[in-house]
Amino acid sequence: MPQWKDDAKPHGPIKMNNGWTVEVDANVCIGAAPCTAMAPKTFALNDDGKAGILTTVSEDDKETILNAARSCPVAAIIIKDETGKVIFPE
Ligand code: SF4
Repeated sequence: MPQWKDDAKPHGPIKMNNGWTVEVDANVCIGAAPCTAMAPKTFALNDDGKAGILTTVSEDDKETILNAARSCPVAAIIIKDETGKVIFPE
């Protein structure tokens, strides 16, 4: 079983050590899983078939997280910078 950063809300939002906030919109995610291949320390599929955010999220760098978000076919990954501004989807 994957180790979620926050068991109470596996899809986030989760604050990374770099100040970014990462969230998976579980209503949008279709479990297609390219995010888990692009950023395996950040995303894994939950029991509900949607991507969750792992306890190792801060081990992935910003570019890796952004590339994972870009790889999502339904733009379910939402990233905010340290000021709370949405930087993805653009
Ligand atoms: S790539 Fe998108 S749809 Fe696929 S599991 Fe990740 S968040 Fe969900």
